[in-house]
Amino acid sequence: MTYEEIVDGLRSSYREIENEGRLVSAGLKKEKQTAEIVERYAWLYSDEALKAASTVERETPEGTDREAARRVRSAIMQGIIGRRTAALDDRLATHYGTSKVSLPGGEEVAFFTAQAMLVREPDPRRREQVGEAAAKVMAEVDDLALEAMSTTLDVIKSFGHKSYSSFWSDLKGVDYNKLQAELVRVADACCESYKRWISPRMKAAGSRYGECSRWHLSYFRDLPEYDAIYSREAFEPAMRRTFAGELNVFTLPTVHIDLENRPAKDPRASVWVPEAGVEVHLLTRPLGGHLDYSAFMHESGHALHFGLTDPAIGWPLANLGRSMAYAEVWSYLMDGIGSEPLWLRETFDLEETKADSIAADLVAVDLMMFMRYSAKLAYELELFAGDPLDRDRGRELYARILSEGTGFAYGPEPWQFDRDPGFYSADYLRAWLAQAAFHQRLGEMFGARWWTKAEAGHWLREQWRKGSIPEAEETVAAVGGKPWSGDALIDVIRQRL
Ligand SMILES: [Zn+2]
Repeated sequence: MTYEEIVDGLRSSYREIENEGRLVSAGLKKEKQTAEIVERYAWLYSDEALKAASTVERETPEGTDREAARRVRSAIMQGIIGRRTAALDDRLATHYGTSKVSLPGGEEVAFFTAQAMLVREPDPRRREQVGEAAAKVMAEVDDLALEAMSTTLDVIKSFGHKSYSSFWSDLKGVDYNKLQAELVRVADACCESYKRWISPRMKAAGSRYGECSRWHLSYFRDLPEYDAIYSREAFEPAMRRTFAGELNVFTLPTVHIDLENRPAKDPRASVWVPEAGVEVHLLTRPLGGHLDYSAFMHESGHALHFGLTDPAIGWPLANLGRSMAYAEVWSYLMDGIGSEPLWLRETFDLEETKADSIAADLVAVDLMMFMRYSAKLAYELELFAGDPLDRDRGRELYARILSEGTGFAYGPEPWQFDRDPGFYSADYLRAWLAQAAFHQRLGEMFGARWWTKAEAGHWLREQWRKGSIPEAEETVAAVGGKPWSGDALIDVIRQRL
């Protein structure tokens, strides 16, 4: 098979997979049948295609064409893993989609309804009960998740890699131990501010730092005290004002926005990219509260980036990132606008002190999530440094490392549920560091209200044209920031908190 056939195959399989995901999330299709689609591309996600792509990569001189071939090879490898685990993944998804959580008093709710209850339930005891009951549903599929992990490890070995960590480190170009050391430095520098912010909230939940159940985290994140400000009615006009001018995500011909409120629609906002620079979908279902705003702004960053990608750079470099860190920089950057006191004052017509205190709480929520993701990555690195199929060891590592890193008490049950493949947690954390550096530089280049300035918009549009070519840290270095450094993030937290 030729390289052109491989690229065409990737292009059409991505188009089908993204559309399938979009239809299910939008509530327009009931069952997700990704495994069937992937099976139709068995010829593509195969050892033969991998061999052909590797040969092209080896024989292409260093430069953008070689980088494109490298991305193609990486996509095929991930596709092979996906194909081998697709049936197991579908069974896991069906388990979570159909399981009921049994609450005290005999009430039963769907697993995803229980997840949503954890965000909005005001009674702390009830939150703990819902969380503990949901953990039981997670534990039920321990064997299935272990089987998926064991299959993944077999495929990675067949690629000639001796470990899960070395495979992803090589594919994404990340020195995970070096990254981990920098994350520990940031967490240490911010630990006192974090404790000061979170301790009163833990006390209100009837507990204290180090003992508070982890099932309160989603509720703390939701900041229900600001519900009246972040109303459902104010949502759309506020978003249209924020994304006016150069950043107008609502008028981009490549971006389709779905704000409809269908009963089967996933309340979580999402972006689907059948093809960057050609067709992008942004889905959201506003339910009230600040997370509506922050999720929409996050997804708008993705939609602008992929919607404005120049398709002329070729499908692989437009659509296949080396990791997800670069794409997440733009979503974090747009989401970060919502934590700016100036944006809060102008959007909600607030007094300066009120806007400052909301901004502080929003930054603290981010810090809480940063602590959680740092701990998640620390756990994953430790898990894969030993035998990841050793259940007792995995359960012990998860509960201990997550608890130590966050000040919440974590039980062992979600040790597999609470873990994304390919060290995605590291991609998020890298985006966090890079976004803080970017936000700082944009302020220096274009002024405090940079998101309203046409020149800043032009500058961002130029970046977005490059699609998935660059990586997060390269772009930080290109604007004069410090790549792989948490300095800018520490600065923001110190200023606001
Ligand atoms: Zn994202």
